[in-house]
Amino acid sequence: MDFDGKGPHKGEQYQVPNELPIHGEIYKKRPEAGCVIHAHPKEALICGISEIELRPIFGAFNIPAMRMALEGIPVFPRSYLVNRPELAAPLIEIMGEKPICLMKGHGITVTGKSVEEATVRALNFNALTRAILQVAQTGRRAPEISAEDIEKLPDLGSTFTDTWVWRYYVRKLKEEDLRLSH
Ligand SMILES: [Zn+2]
Repeated sequence: MDFDGKGPHKGEQYQVPNELPIHGEIYKKRPEAGCVIHAHPKEALICGISEIELRPIFGAFNIPAMRMALEGIPVFPRSYLVNRPELAAPLIEIMGEKPICLMKGHGITVTGKSVEEATVRALNFNALTRAILQVAQTGRRAPEISAEDIEKLPDLGSTFTDTWVWRYYVRKLKEEDLRLSH
C-alpha cells in the first residue's frame, strides 16, 4: 500500500492499521526515514503521564540511551488516536529532526534509517524509561552524571550499537521459537 493506505492489491479482506498516518505522514515528510516504529511500552507510558523528567541518569550502562536523554526527548502532549493525517501533523512538528518522541498517555514513535536502527533505538528508549521509572519508585533522585564522565564515553559506532544488538535479539527470538516448538 502507499503512504495513505491505498493499494491495488489490498482487496476487501485487509484493513490498514488505525494509526497508519503516524507512519505514512512521517515517510512523506522525512525522506531519511527508512523505518517508523510506533508502540505502546508501559514504562514510557508511566513516565509520560507522571511527567517524570527523562534525564541522562546513567553512563556506560547504555551509552546510546544516555545520549538520547542528553540530547532531549520531545514529548507530544496529546493522547488521541492518530488515525487521520491531520492528527499526525502536530506530532511530526513536535518531533522535528529528532528520531524519537514520547507521546503522553499513548506511546512512542521512533524513526531510523533502517529497521535495525529504529528497533534498537526503541529498545534503548525502553531501557532508559525503565531505569528512570524504577529510580523514581525508590523515591530518590538520581544524581547528575558528571560532565567529565559523559565526555569520556566513546561513540561505539553503528555496528556495535545497532547491528550486534539487532543480531542478539534475532538470535534470542530464534531460541525462544525453538524452545516453544519442543
Ligand atoms: Zn498508538
